[in-house]
Amino acid sequence: MIPYSTQTIDEADIQAVSDVLRSGWLTQGPAIERFEKSIADYCGVRHAVAVSSATAGLHLAALAIGLEAGKLLWTSPNTFVASANCARYCGAQVDFVDIDPRTLNMSVSRLQEKLESCRRNGKPLPDVIVPVHFGGVPCELQKMALLAEEYGFHILEDAAHALSARFQEEKIGNSMYSRATVLSFHAVKIITAAEGGMVLTNDDTFAAHVRSLRSHGITRDPQIMTTLPDGGWYYQQVALGYHYRMTDMQAALAVSQLHRIEEFRAARQRLAAKYHKAFGSLDLSWQEVPPNSESAWHLFVIRVPQEKRKRIFNQMRDAGIGVNVHYIPVHLQPYYRDLGFEPGNFPEAEQYYREAISLPIYPNLSDNDQQKVIAFVQNELLS
Ligand SMILES: *Cc1c(COP(=O)(O)O)cnc(C)c1O
Repeated sequence: MIPYSTQTIDEADIQAVSDVLRSGWLTQGPAIERFEKSIADYCGVRHAVAVSSATAGLHLAALAIGLEAGKLLWTSPNTFVASANCARYCGAQVDFVDIDPRTLNMSVSRLQEKLESCRRNGKPLPDVIVPVHFGGVPCELQKMALLAEEYGFHILEDAAHALSARFQEEKIGNSMYSRATVLSFHAVKIITAAEGGMVLTNDDTFAAHVRSLRSHGITRDPQIMTTLPDGGWYYQQVALGYHYRMTDMQAALAVSQLHRIEEFRAARQRLAAKYHKAFGSLDLSWQEVPPNSESAWHLFVIRVPQEKRKRIFNQMRDAGIGVNVHYIPVHLQPYYRDLGFEPGNFPEAEQYYREAISLPIYPNLSDNDQQKVIAFVQNELLS
C-alpha cells in the first residue's frame, strides 16, 4: 500500500532515540530543552513549550488565553476536530467560519462579514479565532490580525500542518500575528516525535503559564510559592494543571528530524510540482497557495466532480493507493450536531468535502509510486 502520508525515519533518528535510552533520563529532561530551543530558533519565536500532543497544546493555549464557560471560539469547519474541541474542554462555545473554496482555509471575507453581522445584531463576538493552515497553506494572518484588533479577539494558530511553511517570507510559528501557535509531531506530520506538540509564543507570561499547566500546575520555584519552601523536597501546586509532558525519547527523535526539515520541504515541494504539471489538463482543481505564501505541502488535496469521488477513492484504495479525505466538516460530527449545527451551515466546506481526495505526499514517496498515482488519476478523469 502506498500511504497518503508516512514518517521518514533514518539511522540518525534511531541513534538519537537509543542515546536517550542509554542516558538514564527518559522523561522530560535535556532533550526537551534542546528540542524547544531548536524549534524556537527555527521558527523565530521567543518561547517554545513542548507538550504531549497538539491537542494538549491547543487545550493549554486556550486556557492560557482565558477561555472558559461563556466565552466563544471560532474556527474553520475544514479541520481536525481538535481545533474546535479545545474550546469545549474549557467549557466555552464553538462556532465556525466557512472556507475560501480555493485556499480551503477560513475565508477572511466571510470572517469579516460574520463579525460585522454579530456586532450589528448584538450577538456575541468571539474571544478566540483559531485559523488552521490547512494542508500547510498559510491563512491570511495579517488581515486576520487587523480584524483581531478591531473586534478584540485573540488569534491562536493551529499549525499542525504547517511547520516549514512561510507567510510573507516569514516562517509560520513566529507568532507575529497571534497570541500563540500550536504544532503537532504526530507520525504523519511534517516532522515527528511519534506523538507530540509544541506551543509557540512571544509572550513571556503566556509561556510560563503553559509551562506550569503542562505539569499539574506544580512549581519548585520559591518565587512563585505562596510561602517559604518547607525544605529541599518542597513543591507547591498553584493551579489546576495537567500531565501533558513529552518524553526525552520523543524530543530526541524530533530534534534529529528537525535537522532534515528543509530537505523534507524540498521533497514535498517537488512532488507537488509534479502533480501540478501532470494534472493541468484534467477536470479537477487543487488547493491554491496565495502568492504571498509558501506551503509546507503536508497534504496534496484535489477536488474531483462529486459524482465521481467515491468511485475514484474506492478504486484507488483497491489498487493499493492510500488516498484519504481531509476533512469531514467538524460541524457535521454527531457531537457538534448535538450542539445545534446542521448540514447547510457552512456550504463551501460541505461542497469541498463531497469532492475532496488527498493524494499521497511524503518525502520518501518514490517517483515510481507517484507515477502510479498520477496515471490512476489521469485514467479516471479522462474516461
Ligand atoms: C493532527 C492535527 C491536530 C492534532 O494533533 P495531535 O498532535 O495528534 O494532537 C490538530 N489540528 C490539526 C489541523 C491536525 O491535523
